[in-house]
Amino acid sequence: MKIFDLIGGWLCLDFTNTADGDINTEWTEHLNSYADLVGWAGQAGLLDEVRAALLLKEADAYPAEAEAVLAHAIQLRMMLYHVFSAVAADETPDLTDFNRAINEAAQHLQSVLKAGDYSWDWSTEPEALDQMLWPVIWSAVDLLHSPQHKLVRECGGNTCSWLFLDTSRNHSRRWCDMKDCGNRAKARAHYHRIKQTG
Ligand SMILES: [Zn+2]
Repeated sequence: MKIFDLIGGWLCLDFTNTADGDINTEWTEHLNSYADLVGWAGQAGLLDEVRAALLLKEADAYPAEAEAVLAHAIQLRMMLYHVFSAVAADETPDLTDFNRAINEAAQHLQSVLKAGDYSWDWSTEPEALDQMLWPVIWSAVDLLHSPQHKLVRECGGNTCSWLFLDTSRNHSRRWCDMKDCGNRAKARAHYHRIKQTG
């Protein structure tokens, strides 16, 4: 099974990071099938194994619907990327499609009583193929409305458009992942230095 990197620090940011590379040039897709979307949602804690297996069975029975959900997911991901990339750059995002997505997701939101407490619940439509997208949208609302939206950053890597929450003590995190982008940038600087002196 494909293993996804969950380094965003917030559900909706992890979702935007399901493709790699520079959004304007080389874009490598990691959600290549509906099963990938279910795999990501499982790893992100949105679906348990039983629910994931049920959705894969549904997708087998309704392949065209599953394909449409995947296409919609990728559209939503691009929309979320544009909103939070603008937020990271201290620009004003266009919220038209964002608000449309909120309305869509809210139709599935239920209030339930569980173990003596009332809370929100998304899981009351077990066979809905797009159920993992609703809490993703809601997490985006939570983030945008929280003071933490000021901590959203876009990776400083030349060929990386990943988003993350900078929770470092002095808010100086520049890379999505030091092992990867930070080191690549350092290696590049090193290479240029060697070329100049050599
Ligand atoms: Zn990066």
